Amino acid sequence: MGRTIRLNAVRHEAPVCEDYEDLGSVLDFERAMRVHRAYVEPFEIASPDGHVDGSWLVHGTSAAAYVVDIVDGTGTRDACTCPDFLGGDLGTCKHLEAVRRAFQVRRELAAAYRRLSEIMQPWWRRCIEI
Ligand SMILES: [Zn+2]
Repeated sequence: MGRTIRLNAVRHEAPVCEDYEDLGSVLDFERAMRVHRAYVEPFEIASPDGHVDGSWLVHGTSAAAYVVDIVDGTGTRDACTCPDFLGGDLGTCKHLEAVRRAFQVRRELAAAYRRLSEIMQPWWRRCIEI
């Protein structure tokens, strides 16, 4: 069953970079900025099947729409088709963070995403150990 979620722009505190000389701090800041934009900009997020894991079509403020793929509950292997995600090493973008924001605001999605984490993380941990 398809599902569309509208996220309105809300107030969200802008992140601050603690140290522009330190690459780790800059990357943390850049990731926090994607989370920030996922809150202060409106999005429309649609899933063809309503499952948390799978493809989500994300419309932001621009005409273009991008596809976010939620792979598992680890939050480390998800992807987006936008230039920001594909061109950077951050592993995230505002579209991906908008999908995660939707998971937080919708109770049933939050529960499903938590279950996904519980199912997938032990499996993924075993893969890393091998
Ligand atoms: Zn993106």
